[in-house]
Amino acid sequence: MGGVPELETIPAMTSVRMADEVLEWFAVCARDLPWRRPETTPWGVLVSEIMLQQTPVNRVLPVWAEWLSRWPTPADLAAEPSGEAVRAWGRLGYPRRALRLHQAATAMLERHGGTVPDELDDLLALPGVGSYTARAVAAFAFRQRHAVIDVNVRRLVARAVEGVAEGPTSVSRRDLALVADLLPTDPETAARASAAFMELGALVCVARAPRCAACPVRDRCAWLAAGSPPSEGPARRPQGYAGTDRQVRGRLLAVLREATGPVEQADLDAVWDEPVQRDRALAGLLTDGLVSRTAPGVYALPH
Ligand code: SF4
Repeated sequence: MGGVPELETIPAMTSVRMADEVLEWFAVCARDLPWRRPETTPWGVLVSEIMLQQTPVNRVLPVWAEWLSRWPTPADLAAEPSGEAVRAWGRLGYPRRALRLHQAATAMLERHGGTVPDELDDLLALPGVGSYTARAVAAFAFRQRHAVIDVNVRRLVARAVEGVAEGPTSVSRRDLALVADLLPTDPETAARASAAFMELGALVCVARAPRCAACPVRDRCAWLAAGSPPSEGPARRPQGYAGTDRQVRGRLLAVLREATGPVEQADLDAVWDEPVQRDRALAGLLTDGLVSRTAPGVYALPH
């Protein structure tokens, strides 16, 4: 059995009061996002969680809507070539996620009759579904009680509970236990609290310049009480994009996405001047399965 061992605990009263405060704030301030609506299927929730990794909400919204309208179930996606998933992914970035979503859809068709499984271990066994995504789907689609820890929750809990400026770079068993301890006992309320913590971290307890005056937990925030001490670690700088292999890969893939059929090497050469970097990027796309070579010097999206 794979995945992270369960450490969900019974919450302490003080922790639950923090959840209550965040839930009250969430009831008023939550964004109306389509994947949070009750009519959204577990598949819609899973697609949203994969798309939202490292990608802002406003870029995900139109692609998510288009995706769900074209492929309303995992079986609909699995019936198409994986290249169609890469094409529909458009400019969301990190396009291997499109391939993994296609692989997950295929696995759900084979193992679960074309439905998204509701057991955490079954979710973890799907291609491309890691600990965060499995827990998010179990909580938000199936209303279960799980610690759901994204970068925003890591930062919120680090500040409010532990009194430090930044959260850890990865999630440990201790972090899972700590966040589980903040959740109410009732699964439905816990699932809502998980969404509320994420939203508070995304909108108020933001990385730079947190909006503490508008924060529902400011009276209990350990970091604020300690005088908002700066982070002791090295500054985390966002990765650049211009001039990187990621940018070249994006340009090459855009040529293939926009073409109705296979393209010639010359069409790819036209989008990046530097041949060594261009060749390296193309080789990476081939290795990752995002591009197929259909004949010498001819390329297409995968089948
Ligand atoms: S009071 Fe400020 S630092 Fe503390 S949790 Fe709220 S927004 Fe974050």
